[in-house]
Amino acid sequence: MQQITTRTSKSAGADALAAALAQFDAAADHISLEAGLRAVLRVPQREFTVRFPVKRDDGSVEVFQGYRVQHNVARGPAKGGLRFHPRTDLDDVRALAMWMTWKAALVDVPFGGAKGGVTCDPSSMSSKELEALTRRFATELEGIIGPDSDIPAPDVGTNAQTMAWIMDTVSMHRGYSVPGVVTGKPIAIGGSVGRADATGQGVVYTIADAARRGGFELDGARVAIQGFGNVGEATARLLHAAGARVVAITDVHGGVADPDGLDVPFLRRQLSEHGTIAGAPRTRPIANDELFGLDVDVLVLAALEGQITAANAGTVRARILAEAANGPVTPDADPILRSNGVVVLPDILCNAGGVIVSYFEWAQNRCALAWTLEEINDRLSRQILAAADAVWARAAADGIDPRLAAQAIAVERVAEATRLRGLYP
Ligand code: NAD
Repeated sequence: MQQITTRTSKSAGADALAAALAQFDAAADHISLEAGLRAVLRVPQREFTVRFPVKRDDGSVEVFQGYRVQHNVARGPAKGGLRFHPRTDLDDVRALAMWMTWKAALVDVPFGGAKGGVTCDPSSMSSKELEALTRRFATELEGIIGPDSDIPAPDVGTNAQTMAWIMDTVSMHRGYSVPGVVTGKPIAIGGSVGRADATGQGVVYTIADAARRGGFELDGARVAIQGFGNVGEATARLLHAAGARVVAITDVHGGVADPDGLDVPFLRRQLSEHGTIAGAPRTRPIANDELFGLDVDVLVLAALEGQITAANAGTVRARILAEAANGPVTPDADPILRSNGVVVLPDILCNAGGVIVSYFEWAQNRCALAWTLEEINDRLSRQILAAADAVWARAAADGIDPRLAAQAIAVERVAEATRLRGLYP
């Protein structure tokens, strides 16, 4: 059995949490948030840590550690993804839960913020092992998740199948189907059309909007993308379909480049057949460091936190840096990018398409309705672009960058809800 190790160095998620807190403090200062509310919103409301055994295919038993953090529920049930990754830890999940609170508030969906995950390497586990891990974790979470309390969704290392196992486990325990307990489910069991691509679709809507504001169109724009998973693959495919030239993409195993534009649909097939795009025929290899510094119109970060730091921010030459991932730019990199004229589309706006369509999925489940893809994308575009308008207007009015504007709007909304609800008892 695996030993529970004592932490001797700073946790993997410590940097992400420090970044989330620095961003919150900047917003709280900007809006002169009173001390009491600052103390309330700076910390997660509820944290759950669990250790549970899973039998591996070779008969051995391994103990895994999982988390669910609900940062704030002043505006509605907690909402946020579940991450299966070797570096997932409590601090990481705390940071991601806080970002979810601000994201839901900024795009005005009636949710609070949460996140969860399991420290594991899904790429080294069989489908049977992943199902066992997911169903046991769902059982452990059962007391705190539900359509009215906390609604998980896919994130790094999880997908629609993971959500199906969670939905089925909770439904078996309750004795009836509970589709609204998760979003990002397969369509056949209550998922929404458009949800699988929603985060990437929202990334594309916000990039197209920012490009227009910057005086150029997506058609013909040169784009580089880090990450080719749930978010990166959809973003690449939709940008390619919109006429952009995707000149480089990396994943965890390596990267591919072609100055004339990559064949994105071919790379999707390459990924499903080989598990990576690295080494795809008729491309040249490229590493992250080179990709970050390419002379492109748009750099999309769709992998993990902490990719652009003070050490490499000076190399970025893109006009727009789109934070499709959560927290990919560290706070010390922001001023460098700003002074070099790189417009950063903040994560809580740029990747909010996922939580917006998750809200549509949850609403459809509650009403037993099924909207069309046209309805979903029309509502998504209106909702995310209304938030973008608010961010750009606030940035102009206060003379601040889009990240601080987005955070200020979000923190104000959560603070208002908290004030109105008052302190209980
Ligand atoms: P995923 O696991 O589906 O994909 C992650 C991708 O990043 C993979 O292609 C992986 O190979 C790549 N990657 C990992 N390390 C890398 C590295 N060092 N260099 C290059 N590529 C690397 O995860 P996802 O769901 O696409 O999530 C990506 C990011 O988007 C995360 O920050 C997540 O929190 C955020 N996000 C996801 C959603 C969603 O709906 N899934 C919604 C909002 C935000």
